[in-house]
Amino acid sequence: MASTRIAEIRTHLLEHRLEAPFESAFSRFDSRAHCLVEVVTEDGTSGWGECLGPMRLNAAVVAAMAPLLVGRDALDHERLWLHLYSQFRDQGQRGLVVTALSGLEIALWDLKGRHFGAPVHRLLGGAFRSQVPAYATGGFRRASGDRPTYLAEETAGYVREGFGAVKIKIGYGVAEDLAAIRAVREAIGPGTGLMIDANHGYDALEAIALGRAAAACDIAWFEEPVVPEDLEGYRAVKAGQPIPVAGGETWFTRWGFRDAVAGRVLDILQPDVCAVGGLSEACRIATLAETFGLRLVPHVWGTGVALAAALQFLAVLPDSPPRHQPRQPLLEFDRTDNPFRQAVLTVPIEQRDGLVAVPDGPGLGIEIDRAALARYRAPEG
Ligand code: CA
Repeated sequence: MASTRIAEIRTHLLEHRLEAPFESAFSRFDSRAHCLVEVVTEDGTSGWGECLGPMRLNAAVVAAMAPLLVGRDALDHERLWLHLYSQFRDQGQRGLVVTALSGLEIALWDLKGRHFGAPVHRLLGGAFRSQVPAYATGGFRRASGDRPTYLAEETAGYVREGFGAVKIKIGYGVAEDLAAIRAVREAIGPGTGLMIDANHGYDALEAIALGRAAAACDIAWFEEPVVPEDLEGYRAVKAGQPIPVAGGETWFTRWGFRDAVAGRVLDILQPDVCAVGGLSEACRIATLAETFGLRLVPHVWGTGVALAAALQFLAVLPDSPPRHQPRQPLLEFDRTDNPFRQAVLTVPIEQRDGLVAVPDGPGLGIEIDRAALARYRAPEG
């Protein structure tokens, strides 16, 4: 029997300078940077995971956790997760401790799948679907140009590529955002889904004003209207305007989602597998969502590893509610400049006619292109 004892843990830091920087409501993207986690067992097998968020800080936390894992059995990943979580709990519970833990946990799941020769979705209980409809995430503000004009062109391009829904960034001021939203709706036509994401750039009063005015453009959801700490703000936005409210990409673990879910302060939960604690924790949050009658559409922002982990999770989400023609969960498919979506995988994950196949090889169902890791290795810093 091959040894599944953990021998070594590595992080791989990837960076790509953007030719055309872009902005969300509060931050400017000059580069794309991501932290991959590789857990190697004594038999030489590597499992891969990814951490959402600042790559060097994630790598530092992974390095601090590594000594607690080396020599342990990778197949005991639930025990190992709880051990790490409890060891870091006092200064942990959310943020970087949990994003680092997420990358490790995903890598352990990948190892488990490789060990048993089965895709993660089969080990999690079996797939409800073999492909997932994807929506295009883009529509950021650029450094120059007429925002309604370039957003209309960009989003119409996603529709031509086959996407059935697109998401754009807002949070730059109600009047400016409304002009952009109207231009995009005009460009994509009435049959395409349209979502708006404020990246918590509004307060509740602005978000309510925006939501009331934008609702005529048939918006599928209004994402992160207010800062994630402000659950009462979420509640006010949900009550004060007609668009369904989404959020959760900066909430961590089942405990971080508990109050938002129990208080029903929003309509759609957006846990990120690479942030909430990994695949098992994302499944627990999905159970919470189902228990409280909330929808769930995972957040995804990263490399092909993050995409593969999200697809394994999406595969096992039960139809909710169950019916003959269920409403399918959606894959968030970032379309901005990021070579790591394709380059780190030997077989990239692509969409066709707006659908993305769930990888069905062992583990996450992907293989890593180590030459690409070397090519994009971040400078020492
Ligand atoms: Ca978002």
